[in-house]
Amino acid sequence: MDRRSFLQSTAFTAFAATATTPWRYLSAAELNDAEVPATLSAMRGTGEHVTISSGELKDLAKALRGRLLLPQSEGYEKARHIQNPAIDKHPAMIVQVTGVVDIQTAVAFAREHHLLVAVKCGGHSFSGQSTCDGGMMIDLSGIPGVRVDPAAKTAWVSGGTLLGLIDREAMAHELVTTMGTVSHTGVGGLVTGGGVGRLSRRFGMAIDNLLSVDMVTPDGKAVHASATENADLFWAVRGGGGNFGIVTAFEFQLHHMQREALGGPILFGPEKSADVIKMFAEYSVNAPVELDLSLGYRREGTTIVVCYTGDMKDADKALAPIRKLGPTSDKVAATTYVDIQRSGDMKATSADPRMTMGQYMKARFIERITPDLAKAVADAVAKRNLTVNFAGGCGMRGVKATDTAFTHRYARHNMLCGTGWKLSEDGAGPMKNVRDFWNEMEPYLGGGGFYFNDAPTDAIMDNSNYRENYPRLVQLKNKYDPGNLFRLNANILPTVKG
Ligand SMILES: Cc1cc2nc3c(=O)[nH]c(=O)nc-3n(C[C@H](O)[C@H](O)[C@H](O)COP(=O)(O)OP(=O)(O)OC[C@H]3O[C@@H](n4cnc5c(N)ncnc54)[C@H](O)[C@@H]3O)c2cc1C
Repeated sequence: MDRRSFLQSTAFTAFAATATTPWRYLSAAELNDAEVPATLSAMRGTGEHVTISSGELKDLAKALRGRLLLPQSEGYEKARHIQNPAIDKHPAMIVQVTGVVDIQTAVAFAREHHLLVAVKCGGHSFSGQSTCDGGMMIDLSGIPGVRVDPAAKTAWVSGGTLLGLIDREAMAHELVTTMGTVSHTGVGGLVTGGGVGRLSRRFGMAIDNLLSVDMVTPDGKAVHASATENADLFWAVRGGGGNFGIVTAFEFQLHHMQREALGGPILFGPEKSADVIKMFAEYSVNAPVELDLSLGYRREGTTIVVCYTGDMKDADKALAPIRKLGPTSDKVAATTYVDIQRSGDMKATSADPRMTMGQYMKARFIERITPDLAKAVADAVAKRNLTVNFAGGCGMRGVKATDTAFTHRYARHNMLCGTGWKLSEDGAGPMKNVRDFWNEMEPYLGGGGFYFNDAPTDAIMDNSNYRENYPRLVQLKNKYDPGNLFRLNANILPTVKG
């Protein structure tokens, strides 16, 4: 492939120039001879091997403004890591993009060579979909950016942004939109998968606040999608994950909200667990929408984590049903919403040598925490060292299941159970502990689907999870990605030959 064919011209208008946070431009670097093997053995999406010549690699590097990292390149080792260190893969090449044209260049090269493609934003995919062995990783982490329009109450967010930047930039204008609960999670995976967080009960899911997207589709075109333009693609990207291309920019609706908030954990001893889960089942759904509650259930006791964003004069009333159960500790305190959003952050993120714990998680959407489910959780947890979490409190509802590709609108809660283990030890035992727990829960879970953003590798390919939306998603996959270039996600299988 010659150099010119990478440089397709498009009608893209970068908003980077007006972003409130400057993008970190990586200097265009040509590969030096020591980095480039005579040929590179890479992996196709189909699993076959493909050989790429040094000339093709050098042409690709020259066509990029960002960097092409090969296994011998400085920076490769850091860039290849994702948040879950138990998933330890080695892409044949990593393209660190600086903008839309770099993304188009990478996509064109990958399509030409039928490469396996992984797209990394925040790298938080539990199932490791943002990395691969032998393929191309397209690394968006060098293009964070947020531009807030306070008058229109909207924000443009670059496809490589971490959530904390969105919260911070929007809140500078006393504006917010729903994002996840850990500030170093990526907007790319979170929003294309749905996106739930502390404001879901108040403002809906992240996708319910999405006004439009700019995308690079598998054919390498830069397109805009909204309710009125490429509406089918806009429908698909709101819950269809990375199946339809790479979102280069998200446009969100923002909402006015004060900076001040109340947040913190309320802890209860084990003798109160049955009362706490009963209260939580009702109150997390019926409380004022400004109150978000999540529950952590362990055999040692329960923790309710509070985020209250309403009028402070009503806060005591809102928290009274929780406090009246007699907690052993109450650490709810006045702070800011942005600080609450950072309160669950980890000390170390991807590629940090302190990331020494493997992670495994299972999740299920629950329509109701029934008394039978509550008892089953209590019985199962009594004999195991694990934490069961419930989040959500209705934040997925209020939109028809077929209005977006995300279909689980029946759900009131997301029930999660995860585990961690030292990488120097065998993770089989802790993972089995979670799976055994989950098998015991099955009869009580009520037939809901799961949030593929929280699913482990062994579950993510279960397409029945798209429920009634699957036939339409297949049609759109056939239209936009018949060759299944973007397959490292909760993959929708095309039924035509690409
Ligand atoms: C610590 C932690 C906390 C979490 N908290 C929440 C939460 O509060 N709420 C919630 O809803 N979820 C939460 N999640 C789940 C989270 O939504 C998923 O892990 C999500 O995939 C993370 O997005 P990412 O960009 O960081 O992931 P990545 O691993 O970078 O990507 C995940 C998937 O998204 C695709 N993708 C990434 N960027 C783009 C893009 N720009 N365009 C198209 N596709 C793209 C990738 O190809 C891949 O398939 C959490 C996860 C972790 C690890």
